[in-house]
Formats: sequence, structure tokens, C-alpha cells
Amino acid sequence: MDPSLADLSQAFVAGSWIETARTFPVRSPATGTLLAEVADCSAKEARAAIEAAVQIFPAWQSATPYLRSDLLRKWREAILSHAEALARTMAQEMGKPLAEGRREILYAASFIDWYAEEAKRIYGETVPSQHPQKRIFVCYAPVGPVYGITPWNFPAAMVTRKVAPALAAGCPFVLKPAEESPLTALFLAKLWEESGGWPATFQVLPSSDPEALSAPFLDDPRIRKLTFTGSTPIGKRLYARSAATLKRVSLELGGGAPFLVFADADLGKATDGAITAKFRNGGQSCVAANAFYLQKEIAPAFLRLFAEKVASLRLGDPLEEATQVGPLVNAQGLAKVAELVADGRSRGAKTLLGGPIRGLFFPPTLLTEVPPDARILEEETFGPVAPLCLFESEEEALAAALRGRAGLAAYLWTLDLGRAFRFAEEIPYGIVGVNDALPSTAQAPFGGVRESGLGREGGKWGLAEYLEPQYLSLGLG
Ligand code: NAP
Repeated sequence: MDPSLADLSQAFVAGSWIETARTFPVRSPATGTLLAEVADCSAKEARAAIEAAVQIFPAWQSATPYLRSDLLRKWREAILSHAEALARTMAQEMGKPLAEGRREILYAASFIDWYAEEAKRIYGETVPSQHPQKRIFVCYAPVGPVYGITPWNFPAAMVTRKVAPALAAGCPFVLKPAEESPLTALFLAKLWEESGGWPATFQVLPSSDPEALSAPFLDDPRIRKLTFTGSTPIGKRLYARSAATLKRVSLELGGGAPFLVFADADLGKATDGAITAKFRNGGQSCVAANAFYLQKEIAPAFLRLFAEKVASLRLGDPLEEATQVGPLVNAQGLAKVAELVADGRSRGAKTLLGGPIRGLFFPPTLLTEVPPDARILEEETFGPVAPLCLFESEEEALAAALRGRAGLAAYLWTLDLGRAFRFAEEIPYGIVGVNDALPSTAQAPFGGVRESGLGREGGKWGLAEYLEPQYLSLGLG
């Protein structure tokens, strides 16, 4: 049976569902309705979670990979059998349209599937020695207890993308979910428990004071790894604080992807791709296209097609089947989008499509004639606004792709293979989608360079983040 939202109000610490001294409200961004009063964890619960994670670590790392794999597989099955309820939970707590929520659950489950397999393939190596009486072996050990912090924009996938490889590697995981989306994370923890997941291997501590909650984890040397997905400024602070205990650190930070369309692109596919890259999750995705650069000769045709498709997007209640764009997650998010649009317009940008803002609903918006100094071209918008600029030469396109300091994703639309490779090799981005607006997948490395972070999630790279090589030198006497 699916839990009600009110059933998802306790924290999951040391294998028990607990109340805390205080609670915080979780509200629907679409209606403002109170969905649940959730346990508000503090340093006290953090310390209890650390002790429990440290205590379970030796047993969990010694459990056979086959057992860990089996539990992960059961967790995946449980998630898929509650997919509809999970999608509804996300729609209610952070406004993701149902159809997108269903796709996110499949994506979230695909990481568990992948790492349930990979758990059994954490192979060691032997290395030839120059000494006849020595043998060199390399084994892989789990890094130890992990602390993870996730954002609200993909409340299920950002969790499983971290937790599944950690559990597969033998690391207990303590999660602080985002304040806007703790219910999905608690739902996932319930399903882990119901699948036979060992107590304290996966703990979830919601909190309205992320700094106070995080301090014990960051300062405790027994927590061996921090994995964070969120904004670049917070990521930098957490990185600095982790230095004192020399933790392994993975940071999946802000994006700001350029979307470049060359004159030889297939415009039907490029405009479909532009819709996905810009308006998925209302633009609130780290790999969302931030600014569009169109080669001059195809710009009018691209704009005509793109504007038709944008105008047909259905903005509305995330729980309605037909909705394609839901509300923004909160008032700060909306204010930032509105501010960037106002800045662009004050510098001369024109609104080709747009409309009135209602509550947290920001209408899909197209801005043309955006001048190069507009902030929206460089700052991550995190909303359903597409600023469009023109370029003439490949050099201008390259300069556009190189502006800013983000390095997560970039998109190129061209049928010229030589150009695609030239660009991909010259631009500093962790992910390059060539004629592909949705490159993320469980078996590939997801992550950024420059101000977009450190480390990768997905595939063998995502598992390596939770493993330490141990070199064993054997003298044969
Ligand atoms: P954020 O403010 O950095 O929040 C992310 C998480 O960090 C939340 O759980 C938040 O808790 C927590 N947090 C905030 N301040 C903290 C502190 N002082 N100490 C410890 N934790 C703290 O980011 P956001 O605006 O919610 O999320 C959007 C950002 O995430 C965007 O920049 C986006 O690009 C990035 N993102 C990156 C990826 C990627 O894979 N590269 C994926 C998704 C999102 P509260 O909720 O309580 O504030």
C-alpha cells in the first residue's frame, strides 16, 4: 500500500522512524496547500545517525556483494511498484508534472538496477612486479560512511544516483534531502526498509537548518565522504569545510548550458531538442539549456518552429495529465527568473512569447535580440525562459560556448561530424550532447568541470567515487 503524505513525516535514523522536537511545513508550490509537517532534524539527530552509520559499516562492508546486490534489486522493484505514488508525491511537493515524474522514477530506478549489477563486479587487479619474489595485488574497499545532500529538482533520481553506488560499494549513507522535497526521499527510505535494507545503511534526516545539521557530519573524521548536488556557492563552502577531515568529496554543481544550432542542423529535431533541454522540469534542471545561439541564416526558421512549439506547451496543475510545465519551486526561484528577464529587457531584449505570472507559475517565455551583456546569458536561470542570440561564424559560436565559468553540459546541433568533434574537443564541459538534448543515462559519467563540480555520477565512474584502492604487496620469502 502507498503511504499517505502525512505518513512520511518522520525522520529515518538508525533504522527507526523518529519524531523530533520541531517540525517544518512542506507545501505544494502549485496551491500553497500544507502537505505535511516533517521532522526537523538537528545536530542531535545528526550525531545519532553518525554513530549508527559508523556502527553498521563493518558488517555492511563485509556483507557479500551478492547480498547487497539482491537488496538493491528488491529496492528497485519496490520503487517501480510504487512509481505512480512517487510521481504524485513529487508533483505535490515540488511541482513536477506527473508525466515527467513517472519518467524520473524510471530514471531513478535505472541507477539502482545498474549498481545492483556493478556490486558484483568490483574486481581487483594484479600488477607485475620487477622482483621475482614479490606479488602486487590491488583490492577495492568502500570509502566508509557517507554524508549526502541533494536538491529538490530531481527528488528521486538525485537520491538514487548517490545512494545506489554507495550501498553497492559497501558504504552506509546518511542523506539530507532538500527542504522542498523531503517526502520523496522519506518514501524511498520506507521502500528500502520494506525491501529488507539493513537498519542504518540508508538514513534520511530532513532539516530546515542545513548548516547546523551538516556540521557534525562535516567535522567528524569517521564520515569519509561528502557527496553534494546543489548550487556552486554552497558546494564551495562544503568543500572547504571538508578539508579539515580530508574527506573524499563529490560536487555536482550549477550548470548553465549553451545550446548552439548551426545552419546545417535538422531544425525539426533541433527545436524538439530545444523544448526538452529548456522546458523539462520547467527549466529547473542543472543541464537545462540556459542560452540559445543560432547561426544567422537559419535563425528565422528556427524561431518560427520553436515559438510554435513553445506556444503549445501546457502550463498548469502538475497533477493534471496534460500539464507540461508546472509551477516554479518557490518564491526565490521565481524572483530570480523575473529579475533576469527584467535585466535582459532593460538592456534591449524583446519578448517574443510570454505572459503574466500567476502565483508560482511562470509562463514559457522567449526573449530575442538579447544583448551580450545581459545577465541571463551567463547566470543559471533555472526557469522556463529561453534567451536567443545570433552568431555568424564558428569562431563566434565557440566564444559563446566558452563564456561563463560553468562546465556541466553543452548542446550542439549540426550534421557536420568534423565540426561536432572540433567543438566537443575545444569546449570545457563534462557532458556534450551532439544532436541530443537528453544525454543523461545510468551507465554514462554525469558531472561537470570548472565551476560545475568535481567527480562523476553514473556508470563505473559513479562507483569509483565510493571506493578506495588498497595495494597489497606480498613478499614470497
Ligand atoms: P542549494 O541551495 O545549494 O541547495 C541544495 C542542497 O543543499 C539542499 O538540500 C539545501 O538544503 C542544501 N544546503 C543549502 N545550504 C546549505 C549549507 N549551508 N550547508 C549544507 N547544506 C546546504 O541549491 P538549489 O538552489 O536548491 O538547487 C539548484 C542548484 O543545484 C542549481 O545550481 C543546479 O544547477 C544544481 N544542480 C546540479 C546538479 C548536477 O548534477 N550538477 C543536479 C541538480 C541540481 P535546503 O533545501 O534546506 O536549503
